[in-house]
Amino acid sequence: GQCVSVCPVNALSGRNTQQPVLDAIADPDKIVIAQTAPAVRTALGRDFGFEPGTLVTGKMVSALRQLGFDYVFDTDFAADLTIMEEGTELLQRIGKYLNGDKKVKMPLMTSCCPGWVSFVEQHFPELRDNLSTAKSPQQMFGAIAKSYFAERLGVDRKRIVVVSIMPCLAKKYEASRPEFAVEGNPDVDISIYTRELARLIRYANINFTDLPDSDFDRPLGESTGAGVIFGTTGGVIEAACRTAYELYTKKPLPKLEFEELRGLEGIRSATIDFDGTPVKIGIAHGLGNARKLVEEVKNGTSPYHAIEIMACPGGCIGGGGQPFHQGRMEVLRKRAAALYQEDKNKTLRKSHENPYIQELYANYLGEPCGPRAHKLLHTHYFDRKEAVNMFIQENQEK
Ligand code: SF4
Repeated sequence: GQCVSVCPVNALSGRNTQQPVLDAIADPDKIVIAQTAPAVRTALGRDFGFEPGTLVTGKMVSALRQLGFDYVFDTDFAADLTIMEEGTELLQRIGKYLNGDKKVKMPLMTSCCPGWVSFVEQHFPELRDNLSTAKSPQQMFGAIAKSYFAERLGVDRKRIVVVSIMPCLAKKYEASRPEFAVEGNPDVDISIYTRELARLIRYANINFTDLPDSDFDRPLGESTGAGVIFGTTGGVIEAACRTAYELYTKKPLPKLEFEELRGLEGIRSATIDFDGTPVKIGIAHGLGNARKLVEEVKNGTSPYHAIEIMACPGGCIGGGGQPFHQGRMEVLRKRAAALYQEDKNKTLRKSHENPYIQELYANYLGEPCGPRAHKLLHTHYFDRKEAVNMFIQENQEK
């Protein structure tokens, strides 16, 4: 996948990530939590002989339980949380923009793909304030697991080990960024990708094919359909539109599916009618396509209010850590279709309707984008060129 070539962590690819996971599980003092990204469930089955795009969510949860994880949670829960924060941020920015505020950075660019975030930091650092400050679902999950959930359990965050199962290597790099740690203790301790999970399952001699289905644990395992579609190109912005529309118009959406945002063309655009306010959306996947949209932002000619970008072709379903798909579009199409199907099967399909998310805000976080949410769920970006030069300078001075 393209992800391997865009993320700056190729050096990590050969490292054995199996052992730290097994060590954590074997340590009686640790509480080991799994979180699984939406794209993983559409692809993991491939390594066990299932047809491309077969959803193996229930078997995956059973396998993680058998491996010995204490809690099996879902990154989709945190995707719902990301939407609450990013959707609110989008509305705030559009509000300021429509009021003539010249300082507000438009369009808002999504920030859940670390391959894309690194690309902006390295090649377009002047646009880093366009990136949403909302952390990615992986990092929001870690921050909540080690604060809210640790407090619920009454344990110190250092006893909790968060293991994320992700579609790519860029997520390993993201988890290791120093700003995503509290006093040196990372929010996400270990990130492994889909093929590494398949290897772990085989190593443990688990008969994946015959496993029964089981459900994620609660509260951090409950998600809406909006969280599920995060795994495919266009899904993040569709999820954001579902919530932003209802928060903005205070009316229920007439139709949940934004067909105009779907598909696999490299660059797509659509105008969504927010009850009289036209909201212009741009979508790109693959960094070659992304560059075209970013150049427009740089030149001041971008027509959009919001842009979703994913570094990998197809979005995370096509991530470099997924079972190989040889760039075949029909495999990506099937994986995307599986996610849209899971969304359709869900009773709740809008992030703000997730009862566990509502409870988290009511009892812990306060308002979306409020002070506590900001502290736990938002981040900042760096000019990587500047950061490298500063590092060299500081070390020369010592
Ligand atoms: Fe990773 Fe998804 Fe970004 Fe690819 S699109 S680099 S899989 S986060």
